[in-house]
Amino acid sequence: MYDCIIVGAGIAGAVAARKLAEEKGKRVLVLERRAHIGGNCYDERDAYGILIHNYGPHIFHTAMEDVFAYLSRFTGWYLFGHEVVAKIGDELLPIPFNLNTLHMVYGQEKADELERKLIAAYGEGSRVPIMKLKENEDADIREIAEYVYENVFLRYTMKQWGQKPEEISPEVTGRVPVLISRDNRYFQEKYQGVPKDGFTSMFARMLDHENITVRCGADCREVLRFSGNAVFYDGKEFEGKVIYTGALDELFDCRFGRLPYRSLDFRFEHYDRPSYQGHSVVNYTVSEDFTRITEFKFLTGQQDADGTTIVKEYPFAYTGADGEIPYYAILNDDNQALYERYRALAAEIPNFYLLGRLAEYKYYNIDAMVKKAMELAERL
Ligand code: FAD
Ligand code: UDP
Repeated sequence: MYDCIIVGAGIAGAVAARKLAEEKGKRVLVLERRAHIGGNCYDERDAYGILIHNYGPHIFHTAMEDVFAYLSRFTGWYLFGHEVVAKIGDELLPIPFNLNTLHMVYGQEKADELERKLIAAYGEGSRVPIMKLKENEDADIREIAEYVYENVFLRYTMKQWGQKPEEISPEVTGRVPVLISRDNRYFQEKYQGVPKDGFTSMFARMLDHENITVRCGADCREVLRFSGNAVFYDGKEFEGKVIYTGALDELFDCRFGRLPYRSLDFRFEHYDRPSYQGHSVVNYTVSEDFTRITEFKFLTGQQDADGTTIVKEYPFAYTGADGEIPYYAILNDDNQALYERYRALAAEIPNFYLLGRLAEYKYYNIDAMVKKAMELAERL
C-alpha cells in the first residue's frame, strides 16, 4: 500500500514526506507518536487564546533562498529581526554581545577605545566565538572576554548543559558569537520570523496531499520490526524506503547504553495584563534556575490578546523516563563514538535512512533540517 514510511512528523519528516509524495509520486505513510504533527515546532492556542510554542520558542531563520522558497509554498510569514536581551543585574543588555552592548557596559570613552581595538583585531562585522576572544593577547580585549564569559556564558551554560563553556563543544557557544558590529539581532540571516498563522498550520498544509497518510499517536516500534537486514511493517517485509527521524538508541532498545541528551522542563504562566517583560526573549545569564523567559505575543506579533503567556525553561539531564523528551544531543567524542555504534546497526539495513536532529544526533536548526530533508528526498 505504501512506497515509503516516515517516522516522525517534525520538520524533517514533513518536508521529506511532501517531496516524495508530490515530486516522486510515492505513497507515503507518516507515523508520529505524539498526538500532533509538527514535532518540536508545534504551536497552538492556549486556554487564554494565546499562540504558544509548546516545546520552546522557535524562530525560523535562514540565508538559504531555496529553503525559504520551499516553506513559503505552505505559509506566509511574520518576518522581523529577532532580538534577545540578557538580564544582568538591573539591566537588559543586547545579546549577542556587540558594540552596542560594549557601550552600555563600559561607557562612552572606554568603549570607544575598546571598540577601536576590537575592530583592529578582528575587522568590522566579524563574529568572534567567546572561547576565541578569551585567547586574545591584548589585556584590554581579554578583559572584555572575561566580562562576556562571566556575565553571558558561564551561568547560562552551566544551567543549560551542566558543564562550563570550556567543557562543551565549541560549536555550541560559537552559535552566539561576540559581534563586532552594532547589529542587535540574535541571528544575522536574511530571513527570520515565524509562519504567519503558526507553525502547525504550515505543517498541516505541507502534509495535506493525496499521497500522504499521517497517523498520530502511532509509535513506530509497535508496527515496525527489524530482523537481519530487513524491515517488517505489520509483520510483512517492507521493501520501500523507511526514513527515521526519532532517537536512534531507542530504536535499538538502548542495547549499547543510552545516548546522552539534555532535556527541558517548560513552565508556562499566564498573566492578566498586557505585558510581562515587553520583550520576546529575555536570557537570564547570571541569576535564576531557568535559562530564559519567552513572552509569546512579542514573538508572534499577536494583537488580539488582552493577557499574556510566558514560558520559563528549566534544563535537566534526560533519563529516558516516561514523559521526558530528548531535545539536545550532547556533542562530544565519547557520545559520537556511542552514536556511531548505533549508526552502524542502522547502516546494515539497505532501505533505512536516518534524518533529523535526533536520528543524526546533531544540533540542527530548522532551516538546516529542511535542506537535509530536501536533499534526501532528491537522492531517494
Ligand atoms: P523533531 O521536531 O524532534 O521531530 C521528530 C518527531 O519524531 C517528533 O515529533 C517525535 O515525536 C517523533 N518520533 C520520535 N520517535 C518516534 C517513534 N518511535 N515513533 C513515531 N514517532 C516518533 N531551530 C530553529 O531554527 N530556530 C529556533 O528558534 C529553534 N529553537 C529551538 C528551541 C528549542 C527549545 C529546541 C529544543 C529546538 C529549537 N530549534 C530551533 C531546533 C528545531 O526544533 C529542530 O531543528 C527541528 O525541530 C528538528 O526537526 P526534526 O524533524 O529533526 O525533529
Ligand atoms: N549561551 C549562553 N548565554 C546566552 C546565550 C547562549 O551561554 O545568553 C550559550 C549556551 O551554552 C547555549 C549556547 O550558547 O546553549 C547556544 O545558544 P542558542 O541560543 O543557540 O541555544 P538554543 O536556542 O539552541 O537553545
